[in-house]
Amino acid sequence: MKAMTPIEEIRHSCSHVLAAALLRLFPETQLDVGPPTDNGFYYDVDLDRKLTAEDLIAIEAEMQKIIKENQKFERTECSREEAVARIKSIGQERFKLGRLDDIPEGEPISFYQNGEFIDLCAGSHVGYTKKIKAFKLLSIAGAYHRGDEKNRQLQRIYGTAFASKQELADYLEQLEQAKARDHRKLGRELKLFHIDEAVGQGMILWKGRGATIRRELQDFISEELRMAGYDQVFTPHIGKLELFQTSGHFPYYKDSQFPPIVERESLDAMAAKNTSCAALSEQLESGEANGFLLRPMNCPMHIKIFDSEPHSYRDLPVRIAEFGTVYRWEQSGELNGMTRVRGFTQDDAHIFCTEEQLPAEIHGCLDLVKTVFDTLGMEDFRVRIGLRDPDSSKYVGEPAEWDKAEDALRAAARSLNANFTEEPGEAAFYGPKIDFVVKDVIGREWQLGTVQVDYTLPERFNLSYIGPDNEKHRPVMIHRAPFGSMERFVGVLIEHFAGNFPTWLAPEQVRLLPMNDELRDYAAKLEKKLKAAKIRVSTDRYTDKLGAKIRRAELDKVPHMLILGGREAEENKVSVRSRANKALDGTKTFEAFLGEMLDEIASKRLPDSPAQANSKSA
Ligand SMILES: [Zn+2]
Ligand SMILES: [Zn+2]
Repeated sequence: MKAMTPIEEIRHSCSHVLAAALLRLFPETQLDVGPPTDNGFYYDVDLDRKLTAEDLIAIEAEMQKIIKENQKFERTECSREEAVARIKSIGQERFKLGRLDDIPEGEPISFYQNGEFIDLCAGSHVGYTKKIKAFKLLSIAGAYHRGDEKNRQLQRIYGTAFASKQELADYLEQLEQAKARDHRKLGRELKLFHIDEAVGQGMILWKGRGATIRRELQDFISEELRMAGYDQVFTPHIGKLELFQTSGHFPYYKDSQFPPIVERESLDAMAAKNTSCAALSEQLESGEANGFLLRPMNCPMHIKIFDSEPHSYRDLPVRIAEFGTVYRWEQSGELNGMTRVRGFTQDDAHIFCTEEQLPAEIHGCLDLVKTVFDTLGMEDFRVRIGLRDPDSSKYVGEPAEWDKAEDALRAAARSLNANFTEEPGEAAFYGPKIDFVVKDVIGREWQLGTVQVDYTLPERFNLSYIGPDNEKHRPVMIHRAPFGSMERFVGVLIEHFAGNFPTWLAPEQVRLLPMNDELRDYAAKLEKKLKAAKIRVSTDRYTDKLGAKIRRAELDKVPHMLILGGREAEENKVSVRSRANKALDGTKTFEAFLGEMLDEIASKRLPDSPAQANSKSA
């Protein structure tokens, strides 16, 4: 077993204290396991009573008592027979006997005791319970024994603990912030997207406002791609099974794909013969029956575009990009808002190049990512380089090629001045890769997309170009989807900005607030002018007080409000109230405001301080 770090020891000890408190309050509790986690700890327990939030408070109070008692953690070792007897004597046989069986023959069997509580455990722990200075129980969730849904469902009590009260307070504050920023909550409140059972789990319905954000982002990325020399293409969402058999995506990954769609003729023929479902499935895999696959990847389509014409080395690199929609069968338990879905659109591209061109192409990919991250104020990101495991033989391609590709990834990461880590064994079997991990304004990390070098698919599809020697050569392929998918990326952005999007991305950029009905004409005139300037604007037509209108615009997170009174109308002026600057930004001519707006949008200016701008709405 890996030794625990000091903070893990605190957290794990806390789970013993939790179990001890539970047994004091609910002596019939059966304990399973209580390991530390990345940010805290949990204990899986079985009891008839369904634990409530009030119970957590009572358990916490009991835990405080145990900590105050300053119990010592004492280790004892014993034989397997003694261990069985001990588990029975404390009445914990439901799970602990099975856990005892997990301990391999020859390894020490140990118990830890603090106060009256004794638990089968390998350790390690703090010396005394008073070492636990700051903890909190967070929630209760269902969890199956050993993670298997065929087993009994237990109650998992989550908690967290830190070395100091301050660190705990910071973490709890971060959790609060995360809750307020939750993209599922904001997505509903700001009318950005919808998931409907009638359509299917994990399928995103982009509503008008969310679609605007996505379109602006795509336009921005698309413009960068154009300047970087990409061909931007459109290809269908389904393709023949055979195509995905050639690429290797089917049937090897069939568990994570939607099942194939059987071709009409094959289906009719099989129905006539009363073929069983199992036989049909087999025939689809063997190619005896024909079918289509909802594509799990865009690569085969782009490969066919590359291969549709001959290439000279002078044409390379060929860069083919598409916002390509793919479908994967994620387990329903894994689905989560926009960040884990079953249908999503990758910001995908495939680059076909020579070995020599690899470094420059990888560099180009990273450059593009950096431009987009910088523009969105996600300056804190790191890259993870997945290298091959030198001791494994599962990789295709020549070692010398791998060395070159790995060096190219490293060099590109270095030239970016980004933090990077190298992780041997994390490469795909077909080539090394880079993953992007961004940190948002409240310090959470999000893994987005990747850049991967691939030696296999060019081989499988027998791709070639004519070299300077007039011979055929195999190109190298790069897959890159730096933001992963538009769904995930927009989900992350919603949380990053807490819904306060920079004006260029905001679904509604300006709202007009006429003080009374007589000012409707003036509002209509301005609305028309703003629309002509391609600004997304609406007018609040309700008759309630100005304060209510301002509040409504704030809730909708509209970056700029124009307050229109009689005087403004007479002088062709507007009173501006901006999100960044809560106080009135003063009265100015409409033309001056329009000029500032256009400048803010064109320069893609960020909200002055996302963290501050958000805290009020949180
Ligand atoms: Zn323990
Ligand atoms: Zn690909």
